[in-house]
Amino acid sequence: GKKINNAVSNAINSKDGNNESNIDLMLKEISTALIESDVNIKLVLNLRNKIKSKLIKSNLDGVNVKKNLIQKVVFDELVELVDTDKSDTFILTKKKLNIVMFVGLQGSGKTTSCTKFAVYYQRRGFKVGLICADTFRAGAFDQLKQNATRAKIPFFGSYTETNPIKVAQLGVEKFKREKFDLIIVDTSGRHKQEMDLFQEMVEIDQTIKPTQTIMVLDASIGQAAEIQSKAFKDSSNFGSIILTKLDGHAKGGGAISAVAITNTPIIFIGTGEHIQDFEKFQPKSFVSKLLGIGDLQGFMDHVQSLNFDNKDTLENFQRGKFTLNDFQKQMQNMLKMGPLTQIAGMIPGMGQAMEQIGEEETSNRLKRMVFIMDSMTKKELDSDGYIFVQQPERILRVARGSGTSSFEVELILYQQRMMSKIALQSKSMMDQQGQG
Ligand code: GDP
Ligand code: MG
Repeated sequence: GKKINNAVSNAINSKDGNNESNIDLMLKEISTALIESDVNIKLVLNLRNKIKSKLIKSNLDGVNVKKNLIQKVVFDELVELVDTDKSDTFILTKKKLNIVMFVGLQGSGKTTSCTKFAVYYQRRGFKVGLICADTFRAGAFDQLKQNATRAKIPFFGSYTETNPIKVAQLGVEKFKREKFDLIIVDTSGRHKQEMDLFQEMVEIDQTIKPTQTIMVLDASIGQAAEIQSKAFKDSSNFGSIILTKLDGHAKGGGAISAVAITNTPIIFIGTGEHIQDFEKFQPKSFVSKLLGIGDLQGFMDHVQSLNFDNKDTLENFQRGKFTLNDFQKQMQNMLKMGPLTQIAGMIPGMGQAMEQIGEEETSNRLKRMVFIMDSMTKKELDSDGYIFVQQPERILRVARGSGTSSFEVELILYQQRMMSKIALQSKSMMDQQGQG
């Protein structure tokens, strides 16, 4: 993710973006970064041509103008790719029979997502039942049973019946009789796309006639997403996608190919192993993350959800400002709030660090960050951080005062700069949305 954003900045910072060969160079760097994030090569080439023609048409001068244009075009085009107009068509109707079948490879996160999905709709007043039609994998029923029991969701499965079609049928009949309005059918997956699996899917489909089929896709699948999704689309004709494991190392670029090749929207994302790690898919937020500009939507939601006296921070942020003082308040709240894993991911650079050093050490570092900010003067805290550039001796003083190193102080200054960049970007995004 970070790479793409760097490529954009680097390409742009390379001064004279006015002649065509320089534009080509920029586009090449951006393309490489996108491909490294698992975006499909054909899509990238397409994107590149679009950007190029927009740049040439715009006939703009000046590095900054070009920079904004490129960033905007890359962002918009990627958003357009994942934001099929259909994303709002996934609506389940209460008091009607909704049968939703889950398909996907083994390990993609079907069973986990089924439960998350069930809980999501149960909370919204649906009468939900879960069926385990995976008779292939040993322990599959136990896993679903455990999940369902924990989430207090009625379930159906069998230890003795080995025919998944039969189990699915029995389960659907039972829940239908009991007037459930959302019946979720978890199916089996194999390691590879095997004919058996697809045959089984088709038969279950014909027997229970789902009103919706959802494909579960592991975000870390990378470039293989395209072939995979196409194979599943051909045999199960799913109408939407749930993208899982976006909390891990996955760059998620593969998902763009899955959407593009199948013309099917992503509706939810999985961001962890727990039931609550489940979110509605937000195209803009997804692309921001992919481009490495932090999760704007997520960050904004988080800032807004804090009940502390940080109205000023929010107001500042919306005005495109993020001072050290805001950062300090934010840090203090974060330490109170947890869970750390999710929050660290919202500070540029922290998510990655956390994966490498673990939760305890991350928590330590966060605390040291608070110490550092405690050692700053009011004047410094209220500043945008530039004061430390003008008078670098302040860095040493703060490091000594907080018992940390000047490296750590500089890191904070760097992070605060990144955050104010995000604040600025988000302001300009909001402004654009406001106009549009
Ligand atoms: P299935 O074989 O498709 O049913 O996949 P499972 O639901 O059994 O999930 C396989 C593994 O992936 C399990 O260890 C899950 O806990 C894990 N998993 C599922 N979704 C997510 C997610 O969004 N994030 C993370 N980190 N792990 C997940
Ligand atoms: Mg399973």
